Amino acid sequence: MKIIKPSYYDQFRCIAGACPDSCCQEWDVQVDEKAAMGYLSLPGALGDQLRQKLKQDEDGYFLEITDRRCPMWRQDGLCQIQAELGEEGLCHVCREFPRLRHDYGDFVELGLELSCPEAARLIFTAPWEPVVMEDSGDDAQAEYDPVDMEILLRTRAQALDILDQHPLNEAMVLLLLYGYRAQDELDGGEATPWNPAEELTFAKEVAGDWDWNTLVALYEGLDILTPRWTGRLHSPAPAFPPVLSRMIRCGIERYWLQAISDLDLVCRIKAILAGALLVGHLGNDPITTAQLYSKEIDNSIDNIEALLDAAYTHPALTDRHLLGLIQSIVPTT
Ligand code: SF4
Repeated sequence: MKIIKPSYYDQFRCIAGACPDSCCQEWDVQVDEKAAMGYLSLPGALGDQLRQKLKQDEDGYFLEITDRRCPMWRQDGLCQIQAELGEEGLCHVCREFPRLRHDYGDFVELGLELSCPEAARLIFTAPWEPVVMEDSGDDAQAEYDPVDMEILLRTRAQALDILDQHPLNEAMVLLLLYGYRAQDELDGGEATPWNPAEELTFAKEVAGDWDWNTLVALYEGLDILTPRWTGRLHSPAPAFPPVLSRMIRCGIERYWLQAISDLDLVCRIKAILAGALLVGHLGNDPITTAQLYSKEIDNSIDNIEALLDAAYTHPALTDRHLLGLIQSIVPTT
């Protein structure tokens, strides 16, 4: 089995008490069955504490946040469970976060969650190098349609080239239009010649009126986790530095191949571009704004599904509106 990961993946180290946000606040922690059984049978004071804090609903066990913090998170920024039981005592979510794993059977893609501040720092600042590939020697079977996956892998590589070869606003226009080419191939069409200059001219002709408030309203209508995010949404300070392309790259690497599940690529591309547009529009420090965005959106299945649905229904995400927004961007350095 082939394992593919970004070059910075192994550099990640949790900065725990020095973390400016923390994955131990604002989220209920989903606890897997195995860890929950261990916690419920644990002797001593820690076991008593866990039996009191561990809750269960129709989705399984979880540690319910108290005062916006995980109840096991100590004032010194360390986890009570890890302090007493070591890392192996953590539940699966806490042990793995912010590591991402997408398993396609005969290959696995690893990544880091943009919603973790330290991972976000690496995603935005680590030198950009080709992905690292390893072979685990395991002969696992593909769990996808090979024709569809070939299209997705090839078009994703082309999309990343587009991102590398064009300034931010041009790249965003081209990615949206290229997304339709890739979608057409997934739908059974033939690959057609790609001429970026012609596409940019076409985009100028079809771009429509735009309104940044329409885009903000889309995100205001989703589930909101943190007051900091509400604050950002209400105080935009637009800034579109080239480094925002790192966020788009991260989105392409994470979501492009997921279209193998339903063969709907365009809605994912729109969601990736809309996220980068929003982060640029809200501005401030792009790394922090992108991290807050990801905590609200990437880590919420409900919000991701709502965004993918909105790609075909919300006025902010029509092609004309997105192209209008992109072409109104004034790039910053
Ligand atoms: S958000 Fe990231 S850096 Fe912060 S505590 Fe969690 S894993 Fe560590």
